[in-house]
Parts: sequence; structure tokens; C-alpha cells
Amino acid sequence: MQQRILILMSDTGGGHRASAQALKAGFDERFPGRFAVEIIDVITDYLPWPLNQMPKAYPFLSNDVPWLWKLLYGNQTHGLSRTLTGVGSRFSVGYIRRAFVQHTPDLVISVHPLMQLVSMLAMAQMQQHVPFVTVVTDLTTAHPLWFHPQVDAVYVASDNTYTMAQQAGVPMDRIHLLGLPIRPAFAQPVRPRPELRAALGMAPEIPAVLLIGGGEGIGPVEEIARHCNATLSDGVAGQIAVVCGRNKAMQERLAAFDWAIPAAINGFVDNMQEWMGACDCIVTKAGPGTIAEALICGLPIILSGFIPGQEEGNVPFVMENGVGAYIEEPAEIAATVARWFGPQRSDLVAMSKRARSLGHPQATFDIVHSIADVLEKATA
Ligand code: UDP
Repeated sequence: MQQRILILMSDTGGGHRASAQALKAGFDERFPGRFAVEIIDVITDYLPWPLNQMPKAYPFLSNDVPWLWKLLYGNQTHGLSRTLTGVGSRFSVGYIRRAFVQHTPDLVISVHPLMQLVSMLAMAQMQQHVPFVTVVTDLTTAHPLWFHPQVDAVYVASDNTYTMAQQAGVPMDRIHLLGLPIRPAFAQPVRPRPELRAALGMAPEIPAVLLIGGGEGIGPVEEIARHCNATLSDGVAGQIAVVCGRNKAMQERLAAFDWAIPAAINGFVDNMQEWMGACDCIVTKAGPGTIAEALICGLPIILSGFIPGQEEGNVPFVMENGVGAYIEEPAEIAATVARWFGPQRSDLVAMSKRARSLGHPQATFDIVHSIADVLEKATA
């Protein structure tokens, strides 16, 4: 009989949904027909107003009022966010219980930092233990709320988050360091670059920079794009591909821009592995999903900013591993891309090799196999 797996996520950023979908695809590919995997946006679909408005507030909070986000996230104020989450969880527990009753899962996966406590409370109320695992979708720094000592397994992608899980009291045999759950498409080799570029409408020969601001298209993407246009059209050959994510207004403005270099402007794309495969380097905010994907594709990375808190540690990660740079100033970003495409081409090649060696293309499959083991043991 098919076993039911329920994945709890919420659309605060592109990463949680992308990770949930990656896990579902991983189960479907490795265990066809064995599991029925459902993904729910717990906050939007199960919580009452005003809690269900949180995902809508995320781009605003993390982009426009970073000080407030930092206050909720910062090391010194973890007590505050813990208290708020404690109150929110007690308020929400009945709604989460309803989700569990409705979906009758054999195993629950959380890919969201706010889902641990409330799920444990709901199961305690139901006097029923459903195997519960957490897949941490942050790379090097993560909020402590991700880690609950009673989970059956927690999956992490770095030594730092491994240590955090240990410190939170998760027994060592339940902590698995396997990498971030990236879509299985990234585990497959992509088509040769000339073929990809032809299919994507890019110029065949000139080096290409990919510009992206996470799932929501946040940060100074537009300004960086304009500077790249000016710099790369001035003697250095280069082309640009921009992924605006869900930021439609920015997509429209960039599409209407008078480009001096070949430019491919996109909204939310479903074939990120192809865009990455077609380009030579990437400029992005320090989103964990995008960084992990770029490493798999061997793309040197310029980080143009980070969301305070969960993305902060990704900056030293990229720099210390010699796979890129952290540059906030759009003009300097464009100048660096131009150097990488010109006199510093050999640096670009070396960074690309190092990036590829750090990628975990099989992480999603490793994680789903491990989760299947957890379920098997629980039902044995
Ligand atoms: N993404 C995508 N299409 C887009 C924009 C983003 O598939 O048009 C994916 C991207 O490949 C990555 C995720 O969305 O897997 C973004 O996650 P990240 O952790 O980088 O940033 P977030 O948006 O969660 O802050």
C-alpha cells in the first residue's frame, strides 16, 4: 500500500517551495508509486488571518525593512523570536492538527523553520507520534527554530548547521550532513552549452553573466543589470541573462530597456539548470538554493547582498572556498564581471572548477533514501 508523506512548507522566499518540490520529485524518481507525497503551504492555507499573511510580508520584510528582519532573526534576539514563535505556535496548533487529521500522513517532512515546534505540539495533543523529519533549507547559518530535539531525523548542508542541531539536543545518529535538497534536474548533465544557448535565445559565443535575486527577484538586480550593460558593451564582450523571479514589474522594465549587449530577460523560470548551464558566472543575493545550484553547475558567484540572519553565513562560505566574491556596489560588480570575462579569465576557470567540486548534485536522492529508511524503521 502507498504510504503518505506530507511536506510542510510556506512561500516565504522561493527556497522552501523549491526544496519541497525537489524532495517530492526525488521520491517520485527513486520510489515510483511507493509514496504519495503531498506539499502544503501551512501558513497560507491553514492558519487564520493575520498569520496567513506572513508569506506576503516576507519580500517586504526581508528586502525593505532588513533591520526588523534582523531583529526577528539576529543572534542577540533569538529569545524574542522564540517567544513570538512559542505564542504563535500555541495559537496555531489546532489549525496544524486539522492539517494532520485531513492528510493522515505516515511521515511528515518540514522544510520550514516555523514548523517544528507547532507540529510537535499538535502531535502531543493528538497523542500520536507520526515520524517527523526536518530538512534544513539554509546553507551555513540557520535560525535555531529549525532544530527540535524530538525530530526523528534532521538533514543539514554544512558543518555549522550540523553543530547547531547537536547543540539543540538532536542525537548524533539523527543528524545527516548530505547537502541541500536541490531539484533532481541538477543531478543530470545538461545539454552542451551551444545547444542550450540556441534553445534559450542567447548569443552562441560570448561569455554570459546570469543575474538573479532569488525567487522573488529582490535586491538591486536592475541596477546591476544596467551597469553590466554599460561595462560589457564598452570593449569587453559579454552578454547577460536576467531571471526576475516573481518580480513582474522589474521584468517589464528590463524587457523595455534599450540593451547594448545581448540580453535575455525572464520572469520566473522552471529550467534554472539550463540558464546556469548556459552561463559563465552568476550574480545573486546569498540565497542558499541558488548558491548550491550554482556550485553544482560550476558557476563562479558574485554575491551582491544577503538577507540578514539566515543568509549571512553564506558570504564567508563563498569567499573562503574561493568560488567568488562579495560585492555590493553595482558598478564594481559589473567591473568584476568584465575582468573575469577579460584579463582574469584564468581565475574564472579556476573558481569554476572549485565550485563544481563543492556541489552535491545527488543530495536530494541521498536525503529521500535516508527518509525512506526512517519510515521503514518506524513502521517495522
Ligand atoms: N528559482 C527558480 N526560478 C526563478 C527564480 C528562482 O526556479 O525564476 C529558484 C532557484 O533556482 C532556487 C530558488 O528559487 O532554487 C531560490 O532560492 P534561494 O534560496 O536562492 O532564495 P530565496 O528566494 O529562497 O530567498
